[in-house]
Amino acid sequence: MVEIYPTQAVQNHSIFGDISSLGHEQVVFCQDEPTGLKAIIAIHNTVLGPALGGTRMWQYTSDQEAITDVLRLSRGMTFKAAISGLNIGGGKAVIIGDARKMKSEAFLRRFGRFIESLGGRYITAEDVNMNTRDMEYISMETDHVTGLHESKGGGGDPSPVTAYGTYLGMKAAAKKVYGTDSLVGKKIAVQGVGQVGGHLVERLVKENARVFITDISEERLAQIHKTSGAIVVGQDEIYDIDMDIYAPCALGATINDNTIGRLRCQVIAGAANNQLLDEHKHGQMLIDKGIIYAPDFLINAGGLINVYAEYLGGYKREVAYQQAENIYHTCMDILDKSAAENIPSQQAAIKLAEKRIADMGKVKMSY
Ligand code: NAD
Repeated sequence: MVEIYPTQAVQNHSIFGDISSLGHEQVVFCQDEPTGLKAIIAIHNTVLGPALGGTRMWQYTSDQEAITDVLRLSRGMTFKAAISGLNIGGGKAVIIGDARKMKSEAFLRRFGRFIESLGGRYITAEDVNMNTRDMEYISMETDHVTGLHESKGGGGDPSPVTAYGTYLGMKAAAKKVYGTDSLVGKKIAVQGVGQVGGHLVERLVKENARVFITDISEERLAQIHKTSGAIVVGQDEIYDIDMDIYAPCALGATINDNTIGRLRCQVIAGAANNQLLDEHKHGQMLIDKGIIYAPDFLINAGGLINVYAEYLGGYKREVAYQQAENIYHTCMDILDKSAAENIPSQQAAIKLAEKRIADMGKVKMSY
């Protein structure tokens, strides 16, 4: 699931050009002949603290594609941590290759040693095609890993916390539009009922919203339909249905030239990363259409909040939930800023994140 990214996309393909245009501090290329490991670790910004972000394994079609992915994902992590008030920076790692064939104890532990060599500037966690077992192998070589299984003292699956934050962001956006954050009777379309989408549907149904769901997995769709009673709609039909709220919880870039004209909702609030194909253009198109957009990297930060709570030590799930509650108020502040300055909410969120980094950078200058 390689996401398609917004505009400040990497355009020139000189590596230093890419790194400087996106503002990275350090990019590390890791290669190990015996295990076949090829990985890239990108540290975007460490003003707030060490760079935290998951490791994704993917069969990239070119090295450039892997570089582009890791650079953009790590930048996103910086904003996500900053806007969530966490004292960590943004980083990400990608491993190039087929996760089903290449992963082994030696492969993962070798990767762990590369992480260890960074002395704590980068902390890893799970992402696409990586699981808690993989994190365990990595943790045999480095302490700079979080997102371990509960049985190993970790925080376990972060998706319930992500779903909770997304739900609160959705409520904040609803309050802005309808004057109340109650979702009772609201027609809400959830695209993708995987880990996060499934938990979100559960909360929405509990609140007596009218929930519509779609997924490419028939099995998953049937399962969630059975447990929640949500109404199943087609994969493409979801863009056209009569709905109040659209919740993308599957893929990035579903808000684009082809879909905005079709959407009949007043709010977009979902967990998927990089929902706007083009941050600026499509953010503005949503304003023009009167749709309130809850910034994705803010409202899906529950997962990061959860692994951060684990990283701090003495993990307690209720502490993660408590911290995720800030998402509601931050989302309100951002939507107010977006309206006051007449800028897309995603831009307002980035500005707020950048301001926190700049302010904290100054705080740290004094001894
Ligand atoms: P997941 O893989 O468990 O679920 C994704 C679901 O979307 C799957 O059921 C899949 O079949 C479905 N899907 C894929 N393509 C689709 C399509 N075209 N139309 C409809 N359904 C489709 O992933 P997840 O952990 O639930 O994450 C969902 C999204 O939220 C991802 O974009 C992820 O990056 C983002 N996110 C997740 C977390 C987390 O804690 N898991 C945290 C932050 C962001």
